[in-house]
Amino acid sequence: MDVAEFPPQAALIGNQWIDTGATLEVEAPARAETVTRIARCGADHVDEAVATARHAFTGELGEWARWSARQRSAWLYAFAEAIETHHENLSALECLDTGKPLTQARADIKACAHYFRFYAGGADKLHGETLPFEEGYTVLTLREPYGVCAQITPWNYPAQIFGRCVAAALATGNTVVLKPAEDACLSVLSLAKLAVESGLPPGVLNVVPGLGHEAGAALAAHPAIDHLSFTGSPETGTQVAQAAAEHHVPVTLELGGKSPQIVFDDADLESAFDAVVRGIIQNAGQTCSAGSRLLVQRGVSETFIERLAERFSALRCAPGEEDADCGPLINARQKARLDERLARAKADGIRVAAKGQLDERASPAGHFVVPHLLTEIPDGHTVLREELFGPVLAVQIFDDEAQAQHLANATDFGLCAGIWTRDGGRQLRLARGIRSGQVFVNNYGAGGGVELPFGGVGRSGFGREKGFEGLRSYTRIKTVALRHG
Ligand code: NAD
Repeated sequence: MDVAEFPPQAALIGNQWIDTGATLEVEAPARAETVTRIARCGADHVDEAVATARHAFTGELGEWARWSARQRSAWLYAFAEAIETHHENLSALECLDTGKPLTQARADIKACAHYFRFYAGGADKLHGETLPFEEGYTVLTLREPYGVCAQITPWNYPAQIFGRCVAAALATGNTVVLKPAEDACLSVLSLAKLAVESGLPPGVLNVVPGLGHEAGAALAAHPAIDHLSFTGSPETGTQVAQAAAEHHVPVTLELGGKSPQIVFDDADLESAFDAVVRGIIQNAGQTCSAGSRLLVQRGVSETFIERLAERFSALRCAPGEEDADCGPLINARQKARLDERLARAKADGIRVAAKGQLDERASPAGHFVVPHLLTEIPDGHTVLREELFGPVLAVQIFDDEAQAQHLANATDFGLCAGIWTRDGGRQLRLARGIRSGQVFVNNYGAGGGVELPFGGVGRSGFGREKGFEGLRSYTRIKTVALRHG
């Protein structure tokens, strides 16, 4: 990619690109080569960004505070168009920076634009209510923006998560300070540049790239933020929630998962098969909602696992190609961590029923881990409970519905579950019985629907983003009780 196409190596504060005096290397994970640099913000830049976002919110900096819902909506629509106009460049950046196949990067940029369009449609439709109360009163609720929303985001879906968080926060009239992940944020910086060029008033969107324990920690602990949305690992989620609690800042946490796909004997096995494979290889398994566990009923288990083994053996890892099944992992640390977990699993007697292949186009230096199909796993083993964040599917066999539900719930996470059965009663019983934020029946992920509320239970986090629920989550209710005369 031409260097001229990279976003500025700076922080965005008040619509100005600020030279922070320090930078971080950006590596292309498919080649493990440095391709450019990004700014490394410290606590002072975060301070400046929060103050600027506050001034934009109160109206001291520009017109944002006076924009009506209709005006915000119009800008969001226009920005969605701008993203689509720059779709190919943004996709190429996302592909280079995260290593994901170009087809997936394109889908991510499309989803990002769709978030802006969806929340553009919602901006002027969210409202308070009038409430019945005692004679002589009129009681109403106002839905108000929080103010300065801090957003800390991960590297696995940089552009999509930008869309999910920023669009909802701006649609509802907030201002934003965003700390994107140091491992992949080129698309985020380019989107922010495009937002400024598309006429967003100064200070409404501020981006402070940098390290988690520097810029991220400073933002989470900042006394002047009004809301914190965090997407990332459960461990960091705990830290940022504790920091925000010091100042009683409300938090939304979107954390990890260990989601089961449950395939019963009576399922449409063709559809289930495709969704099980897609659910774990998408983004090389580095997806919070990855279907990383397969629970398959004994009657079909042998043939289903045999077919899976055939498919896994044919899966190819390649660098950012359109036809690759998987790209690399994001960095050497994640690869070393996964390699170590797989070695431990093998040492514990777990069987690798099949492995994918490294395509000849893949550089040996890239952080590739081929897809693994694991079977014969002892009950309670860590590969069944811990998020591996790679293309590794852990298989268990069950006999009946009760056992399937028990196994599905045998984790501290609770993000997603896929249920594959034609039995309507069982679909509903399990939809209720499984402890998770999302249950998909005879599909997995509902195509990533921007319209569907999304969030976790337990170790997967709390609060909801996406859908109309996501819009509500960026507002708070004020109750107004008027006594007449
Ligand atoms: P991470 O927690 O290390 O990093 C996430 C973000 O937090 C990054 O921007 C990072 O710089 C920042 N950060 C790191 N340490 C920090 C600190 N001490 N204070 C403040 N900020 C800090 O997670 P990751 O490795 O980047 O992402 C992978 C994890 O994210 C996985 O566990 C995955 O399941 C989860 N995830 C969840 C969702 C969801 O919607 N539920 C989506 C994507 C990823």
